[in-house]
Amino acid sequence: RKCIAVMTSGGDSQGMNAALRGLVRMAMYRHARVFLIYEGYQGLVQGGDLIKETTWYGVSHIMGKGGTVIGTARCKEFRERWGRRAAALNLVKKRITNLIVIGGDGSLTGANLFREEWPELLQELVEEGNISAQEQTECDHLNIVGMVGSIDNDMCGTDMTLGADSALHRIVEAVDAISFTASSHQRCFVLEVMGRHCGYLALVSSLGCNADWCLIPESPPSDNWEKKMCEQLCRSREEGARMNLIIVAEGAVDRQGQPISSQYVKSVIEKELGYDTRITVLGHVQRGGAPSAYDRLMGCRVGAAAANAVLDADKDNEPVLVGLQGNRVVQSPLMKCVRETQGIAGAMKDGNFKEALSMRAGSFVR
Ligand code: ADP
Repeated sequence: RKCIAVMTSGGDSQGMNAALRGLVRMAMYRHARVFLIYEGYQGLVQGGDLIKETTWYGVSHIMGKGGTVIGTARCKEFRERWGRRAAALNLVKKRITNLIVIGGDGSLTGANLFREEWPELLQELVEEGNISAQEQTECDHLNIVGMVGSIDNDMCGTDMTLGADSALHRIVEAVDAISFTASSHQRCFVLEVMGRHCGYLALVSSLGCNADWCLIPESPPSDNWEKKMCEQLCRSREEGARMNLIIVAEGAVDRQGQPISSQYVKSVIEKELGYDTRITVLGHVQRGGAPSAYDRLMGCRVGAAAANAVLDADKDNEPVLVGLQGNRVVQSPLMKCVRETQGIAGAMKDGNFKEALSMRAGSFVR
């Protein structure tokens, strides 16, 4: 029977548990054995109790839980060659040659590197006397399949990342809660949402919450944006609004690439308009709570497809990313997706915002 190991890595997000359940159930339906790796790459490097075989019922009742039930961690050791060699030893001892990673672009880059080095790592383990030549032959290749768990919706190769929809729900609920108090006092609210390199949450929540103004990293505002924003706020007050809402992505920048902070937006409004202005930074609330129906369903679909991808892969298969495109579950070359994603961050860093926005368009304009 084929052996698959699965881990969640990087930042947690809602929907990871549904993906885990979907893939375990599909893999077991196809008579494979599935091992859960606890605490991300930390568990892979440490082994022992952190790599445990699961059962059909081992993943029952987890779909409605936020975060990840098998834990996640940042792991310095996996960035080192000796750490990846220890990880390879832990897999070979259990005859595991299929690895599914649910994480962000960092975690998926690490998985790809692990696969590339796999034959050399096994050779070193033989030379050190840690595995036999027979174990080396039986485990001579490693299949990798990735799924993206990230509330930011910041990865190429999938229209949505697991967790982005639930995070949007949290933001919309927060705005609804704020709106009552804001309009009672005729206040202006500056809401800061997550998204270091990606403005998806800020842009889409602005549309869904009737925001007056929105600031995202991919599209810095024009030079005299402060004046235009204040005019917009005034106009909406004149037309009867009792409150204003400005949504700022945490990574928002101006045309020179300098950060635009929520504090700066507040100070501009207070100075120019004298409106009573408050800041709300939503922070980890956005990752909290139960996953939305969309994230649960998406998790089931991509999880099951990831199990199929890894079970159908042959030795020459390149690592793939399983995601959604146009509401279909699709496989894309993993490293192409990682490179495109990193290309967007690079374009923004170099001030090529138009290019960044057009590369992002796939996930923004759906
Ligand atoms: P994310 O997956 O959300 O982008 P990180 O970038 O923090 O999160 O990556 C999570 C973990 O993946 C790291 O702590 C590290 O163990 C591993 N990792 C990330 N990048 C690499 C890399 N280039 N080489 C090896 N391991 C990596």
